[in-house]
Amino acid sequence: MLCDAHCHYHDPRLGSLHEGFADLLRQHKIGAGVVNGTRESDWPAVAEICAAHPSLLPAFGLHPWYTAGRSLDWETALIRFLDQHPGATLGETGLDCWIEGHDIEDQKRVFSRQLAIARERNCAITVHCLRAHEPLRQVLQNQAAPARGFLLHAYAGSAALVPWLLEKGAHFSFPPYFLHARKAPQREMFRSLPEERLLIETDAPDLVPPPEQKLEPLRAADDTELNHPANLTLAARALAEIRNLTVDRIAQLTAANWRRLFQS
Ligand SMILES: [Zn+2]
Repeated sequence: MLCDAHCHYHDPRLGSLHEGFADLLRQHKIGAGVVNGTRESDWPAVAEICAAHPSLLPAFGLHPWYTAGRSLDWETALIRFLDQHPGATLGETGLDCWIEGHDIEDQKRVFSRQLAIARERNCAITVHCLRAHEPLRQVLQNQAAPARGFLLHAYAGSAALVPWLLEKGAHFSFPPYFLHARKAPQREMFRSLPEERLLIETDAPDLVPPPEQKLEPLRAADDTELNHPANLTLAARALAEIRNLTVDRIAQLTAANWRRLFQS
């Protein structure tokens, strides 16, 4: 069984798969997953799919793309969702200087608040960081992460920062997206990470892997390509090759890390 450390299975773009989703999980050996919300309006859908499939854990958070649209009482709403769903973790949050019109100072404030909530509850927190590694360093310099650590999903930052991030409690999840030829530096980085910090993810329906390697074709209603949850197997196979381990061993160690980070 494989554990998806980061996904958005509730996303309406996966709507065609939602009927028979239990079979899909079984068929593709997805034994567990953390379904991440990105804004207040999608938190109910996260809760709903996780209630229907107990192997999926909900995560509620405010993604940096959506900080500008937050409500005045977003923090109270977030705490309410976490309280109402025992076992829920925090995510997806983080920092992003890639998105047009970003306000990094505002993102840092919102991220810091979510980090504080996760730390107080000692629940895992899932962090997105795109072209914002210096702001991430600044936040984590001033503020500790939860004692159990945090997940940096699809990390594409500098390898030089990795030892410092590990010291701060970072765990790293490998997406099938890193199979694109241009992602060779990311694949290389995963070769030397400590075994106990390794996870696998899909980020489905986003971060589409190379079309020739996709295990299941999937397109949205508007014909854009999507990432099918089945591609979790691609991530496991690729990481096994990078680490020179069997796929079974990768499944076993990433599941143990998943449980320790998200469930213990
Ligand atoms: Zn995501």
